[in-house]
Amino acid sequence: MRERLLVLGGGESGVGAAILAKEKDFDVFLSDRGKITDRYKKMLDDEGIQYEEGKHSFDMFFEFSVVVKSPGIPDSLDFIKAFHEKEIPVISEIEFAARYTDAFIIGITGSNGKTTTTNLVFQLLETAGKDVALVGNVGDSFALRVAKNPATIYALELSSFQLDGIKDFRPDVSILLNISPDHLDRYEYNFDKYADSKLRICMNQRSGDKFIYNANDQKTAERIGQIDKEVDMVSFNMDALDTLESTFQWNNKALQGKHNRFNAACAIEAVRSCGLNEQEIQDGLDRFTNDPHRLESFLEADGIEFINDSKATNVEAVYYALDALEGPILWIAGGVDKGNDYAALDELVHSKVDALICLGTDNTPLINYYENKIEKLVSVESLELMVMQIKDWKQSGMKVLLSPACASFDLFNNYMHRGDAFKEIILKNFRTK
Ligand code: ADP
Repeated sequence: MRERLLVLGGGESGVGAAILAKEKDFDVFLSDRGKITDRYKKMLDDEGIQYEEGKHSFDMFFEFSVVVKSPGIPDSLDFIKAFHEKEIPVISEIEFAARYTDAFIIGITGSNGKTTTTNLVFQLLETAGKDVALVGNVGDSFALRVAKNPATIYALELSSFQLDGIKDFRPDVSILLNISPDHLDRYEYNFDKYADSKLRICMNQRSGDKFIYNANDQKTAERIGQIDKEVDMVSFNMDALDTLESTFQWNNKALQGKHNRFNAACAIEAVRSCGLNEQEIQDGLDRFTNDPHRLESFLEADGIEFINDSKATNVEAVYYALDALEGPILWIAGGVDKGNDYAALDELVHSKVDALICLGTDNTPLINYYENKIEKLVSVESLELMVMQIKDWKQSGMKVLLSPACASFDLFNNYMHRGDAFKEIILKNFRTK
């Protein structure tokens, strides 16, 4: 009899897992409590995969022998616990896909910089002509590529939720960029539990594999002792990247800032394992383009540079944005504050920030912290009011930086919506004809 596999969640990873399961001759069923988009429905229909949406038919759930769970579904739900009690394995799409490939896997995780570093790994390899795929949180789902268009090397972005669902998954090279408090609601508000999850990236690595990490990161440093010493451990110090700085040329603006030099250091170390030489790496660095909303410089007009860093949803990301840019900076921040502590920004704000526009429906935390620290400070509830304020305060040589330190859900659907709306209104008002 064919093995029965249940996929929970009909997004990118769930649909990819279902297609791979079908390909590997499982009897597969997909269930999503919400709506499945037309695009994914079509993919499932084309493959003849059965699914339900808008509900979970719990009565049939325990007939399956393995469950692939979307990373968005928390382990704390009762029916997920019931699978565990009945000893039905619940795994992630990453675990499932990895069982069907012998390709070289470079896995990247961290609280900040995953997408940038995964893009770097992918583009350095692609520019050098390697058969590489960009998968995971960024790009296609890993399972879909394994099913339909397998590659020799995978650049794989991994969230902590995806790592929670692995058992035997073993990347040939793993990168742990940093561990700072994030998503703590999924980890019982326990920072150590979140760190445990990040460290799972290397738990199955063995002799001959490589683990690349951040020597400056406090939480990583605390935990480094527990890693198997057989693994080839390589660390980079964010404040001492001198060798890297002098070996390569850094003319590409997409790599400005020491956080991006650090991301590049990790990516370069990873791709050296695939045999890239210095010239190939330099070519890849020169051509690198990042996804939008990450320190994205999108307009220069009247001597003012406008930068969209909407993806900076925590204080650490803002720190590196302020660090990367020359002042004076007109900083735009705000949104849903997840209990931020802004003290880490004090020095940078003092030396570089000329004015702060708080953009959000409740700006109390930002105002409370900065009202005696930044002279020019205003609170606005709309992009239109933000524009009026920029017009008032703008001066040649200034950088106008959207780097919110907060989530976007008060005024926008997500960080992409926020960044796109910001760019649109700025271009409309400040682009010189
Ligand atoms: P992630 O995928 O982990 O969210 P991104 O590459 O999308 O990371 O970047 C998110 C934000 O973090 C951006 O504002 C970016 O400028 C900033 N950032 C990128 N790399 C780092 C890093 N190594 N340390 C801290 N912040 C970073």
